[in-house]
Order: sequence, then C-alpha cells, then structure tokens
Amino acid sequence: MTVFAGKLLRIDLSSKRHFEEEIPDQYYRKFISARGLSAKYLYDELKPGADPLGPENRLILSIGVLGGTGLQGFSKWAVTTKSPLTGTIFRSITGGNFGVWMKHAGYDLIIIQGQAQTPSYVHIGKGTVHFQGAEDLMGLDYRRLQGKLKERHGPHTESACIGPAGEKLVRYAVINSGERTASRGGVGTVMGSKNLKAISINVPVRKPSPVDNARFKDLVKKQISILKEHPRRKNMTTLGTPYITTVVDGLGILPVRNFQEGSIQAIEEISGKEFHALKKAKAGCHVCMTRCGGMRDVTKGPLRGSKIDGPEYESIFAFGPLLGHTDKQFVINANALCDYYGIDTISTGVCIAYACELFEKGIISTSDTDGLDLSWGNEESVFSLIQKIGKREGFGSLLGEGVKRAAGHMGGETDFYAMHIKGLEIPGYDPRGVKGYALSMATSNIGGSHMYGRPREELSGIVDSFTEEGKGPSIAQVQKEQALEDSLIACTFGNTGLDLRMYSELLTAATGIEEFRNAESLLKTGERIVCIERCFNVREGFGRKDDSLPKRMTSEPLRNAGPSTGQVVKNLDKLLDEYYEALGYTGEGIPSVDKLKDLGIEELAKEIINDRRFLAN
Ligand code: SF4
Repeated sequence: MTVFAGKLLRIDLSSKRHFEEEIPDQYYRKFISARGLSAKYLYDELKPGADPLGPENRLILSIGVLGGTGLQGFSKWAVTTKSPLTGTIFRSITGGNFGVWMKHAGYDLIIIQGQAQTPSYVHIGKGTVHFQGAEDLMGLDYRRLQGKLKERHGPHTESACIGPAGEKLVRYAVINSGERTASRGGVGTVMGSKNLKAISINVPVRKPSPVDNARFKDLVKKQISILKEHPRRKNMTTLGTPYITTVVDGLGILPVRNFQEGSIQAIEEISGKEFHALKKAKAGCHVCMTRCGGMRDVTKGPLRGSKIDGPEYESIFAFGPLLGHTDKQFVINANALCDYYGIDTISTGVCIAYACELFEKGIISTSDTDGLDLSWGNEESVFSLIQKIGKREGFGSLLGEGVKRAAGHMGGETDFYAMHIKGLEIPGYDPRGVKGYALSMATSNIGGSHMYGRPREELSGIVDSFTEEGKGPSIAQVQKEQALEDSLIACTFGNTGLDLRMYSELLTAATGIEEFRNAESLLKTGERIVCIERCFNVREGFGRKDDSLPKRMTSEPLRNAGPSTGQVVKNLDKLLDEYYEALGYTGEGIPSVDKLKDLGIEELAKEIINDRRFLAN
C-alpha cells in the first residue's frame, strides 16, 4: 500500500449497506488528504440547507497522507461535517489510534451517511463491515464502551465512539478515540443523530510505503533531530499545553469570569509546573516523541479513582479562570466529568460562565437554574450543572444547546454575555488583546476556534499584538498554512521547527507527486482549502455579516488585564476589508470568480453564482 490508500469506505446506515470507492487522483493533487479532501467531498455531497442532525448530513472521518508512516506527530485524524452548533462546515482533529487503523484497513476516508433505525455500531474487520445492534451499549461512557468493543472484537480493536451526551444530542458532544477527543463543533452530536454509538476496527497492520523510501527515512531522521533540539518541543514534552496558562495570563488575554477580565490572581496555582507535579504518567498520540499529554488522578465524579489524560490548557482556562477560580483539582474533576458524558470542555465552560454572569447581574436567579447558586467559584453548582448538561436535564438542557441558542431563547440583553462566534464558543484567548486572533476567529469558517490560524508572531511578541493595521495579510497567511498542516495532518504541538520546504520534501518523497515539490504551490493548496470551506458557507447563506465578534469585544475595554488592560477591537470592518483583499474575496467576503479560477476550482462559481451578494461584486 502506498501512503495514499486510494479508497474510501462509504457506510449508509439507512440501508445498512457499504461501498468502497476509488478516490480520484486529481483530488489528492488538489486537496491532499484529511481536512482538504474531506472538505471537497462534503461540498460535493451535501445540499445547501441540509439539517446537520438529519440523515443527509455526512460524517467524514479521515487520516492524513503521512499518517502511519513513522513520521513523528503525523498520525492524528479528523472529523468533518456540517456542524449542529454553527451550521457551517466543520473539522475537528484528534489523536488516538483510530485514524491509523483506518489506513491499515485500506481507507483514507470513511463517509457515514443516513440514519440507523435503532441504536447501532459498525465493526470493520479484515475485508468485512458488519452492522451491529448497540442497545446494550447505550448510556456507556467512552471507557466502558471501548472496553466492551475490545472484549467482543479483540484487544487490538480501536474505535471512534460517543458518550451519553452524544446520544442525547447535546450540541457540543465529542467523538473519542482512546483517551483523545475530536472535541469541537458537535461532531459527536452528528454521530448521535445517526443512531451510531461507535465504529470499531480490528485489522492486521499494513504499513504504508513511501515511493522513495530511502529519502523518506532520511527525512524522518532529520525531523527527529530537529525536534530533539527544539526548545518549544522540550517544553511541550515536559509541561504539555498547561504551560500556556501563565503565558496567556502574562499577556493579559486569559479570559476570566466570562471574558470580563484578562488576568487572575494566584495564577501560579494553575501553572504548567503545578500540573506537572500532578502528572502520574506520560501520554500522547500514535508515533509522537513529543507526547505532550499526561495522566492525572481524578478524585471526584463517575471517573473517581481513575486517571484522565489531561487537562489541556483549554480545559484549565474553561474550568478555572473563566469561572473565577484557580483550583487545579476541581479543573481535573470537571474535565473528567465532561469526558465521562462526552462533551466539549470549552463549550461547556463558556456556557456555564455565561449562566454565572447572568446570575451575577441578577438577570437570572435560582428559580431559572433548578435551584443552583451560580455565584462565581461555586464548584458544587458547576459540577451539578455539567451533569445536567450531559444528561440534558432542566437548565442543563438549555445550556446543552450552546450559548448562542441559549441566549436566543432567553432573549433581551442576554446576547451580550454569550461569548461565541458563528455559534462556536470562544476558546481561551481574549481577542481584544491580540488583534490578529480577533480577525482570525471572526473570519474562521468554523466559528470561534483558536486552531484555524494562530497569530504566532503576535503571541510571541515579534509583532505588536494591539495594532489593527496590517493584520489582514498575515492572518490570511496563517490560515492557509493551518489548512495545509491540517491536510497532512501535522500536529500543531508536535511539529515545531518544520517549514513549508520540509513539508514539500516529505510529500514528494512519500507520494512521488511532482506538484508537491513546489512549496509555494502547497501554500496555494492551503488557500484552496480555506476557499472551498468558505464557498460551502456562502452556499449556506454566510457572508460578511457573520464574520463578527461578540459585542463585548468591540465595545467593552478589557479590564484587569496587565498589558492588555483597556484593549478593545476598534475597527473590525477595516480588518475584514484587509483580509478579504488579501484573499481575493469581494467586500461581502465571497471568493471572486477570478480567485476561484486562480485556485483551479472555478466549477464552484456555478454553485454560488446566483448569490446576489456574489453578483453585486
Ligand atoms: S504533540 Fe501531543 S497532541 Fe501532538 S501528536 Fe504528539 S502527543 Fe499528540
């Protein structure tokens, strides 16, 4: 088998049938794999206006072209779908072994469509695909479920599965693979809507063979020597993402009490060093020498007495400062509870912080919250609320709809406190203190994500993070780079020190495809992927009006935020104009016909040509 498996597996849950399909060579050349290839299929197959929770939506699982080759940190996998939180195209990337097992089974993609009539799971064995009943598996959390699947299909079995919250259609349910999760955008909710509890795979190992194996091996050695020496990689190996906590606090962009402030006292209590002291064992993804994860003891809740792989920085922010405290053990326990139900920690934390601020302001009271006192720092109430969200009970059921819909339901002024972009809850970086992040999150085709284009130079102080001028071209650039990396899939945390030239050399040696030899053309591929995602959203009615920020970000100066105190996003319109111009989009944020031609995807113009905003430019 070459590094491209060359095939996809289509699973139709409605008819209980499966099909193998060849992936056209041209698709690889234009979209590479994973995020890019999946975006192409989703764009082609999903009609505009389709219900994200209906049988027509696709759930596309994908592995990168370099996954399973022995390259370090390239074996993550991705889920692509239309999100039930945002209504946009969505991709969520995760670790765990499932992706590499897909490749062993001979597939670059698995496309799931339709809806099973009764709870089901699908098992892929050597040359076989079985549709199985899952009634006896319903209600299980990811750990017990994965254990049962290993009992049934052998200890070598790997699976992608959902927890109780995915079954109950909490809109930000996750998909698990081992201890890792595809967390964002409600990818697990889409799986739940299809009545699909799990997909498991147990097949013999088939290692993909690079076309120029000798050259590829040399490049792997080179990658390892780069990683060994890189200080950031060493930091990630020792402390993992928790090391970010004090950095972000120092910049004054750590969201505190629902984004009211940008820094918190006693930050050292939740520093990377403090979490390092609690680490019981290292953890990480398939073939990765960085191993940025860490197992820590859980002292409360259904997973009490066990260990979880975490918390990552985003969970620390979401269950610590965002809720007004710095209690590390509470953060771990809350993270474990989210894992148990299978819900995204960022969205859960932001939804609860929203409710806490409404409580603080007297807009809601215990009569709205099922009697819970949501004063800042009330850990017992937060713990109860996570359980209510996971079970979709009472007030938790409303918050399980996501903060945008919760605010829509509550009405009045509550929208001001709902921290989301296009319906996706904002992660742990206050956009007011890093204007590039403000622009990147506002324009992200998946909503408020920190992983759609990180303004690295601003975060590391190379470029002034408060200036708004000139951010359009740099954000366009990092979004293209991220799209390329997500299409390989190169882990953001595990591939420090690799550049476009190295990606080009790796791809050329692995595939023998000449187009990949030109590093600039790879960047264009990244641009093509961002563009097809935008076209998907345009077809759904998204445009400039949706490239926005919560009103708090543009009207309320950041408080108690060290160097970022007083910062606010002053002129988002100007930032957008610059960004659209850098990408060749119209003033409405729609790719121009010339841009589509330039990217070799002019066929998309036919799809959106009837859009009045498109014609107007
Ligand atoms: S750096 Fe961390 S997240 Fe990335 S591949 Fe390695 S273990 Fe996984």
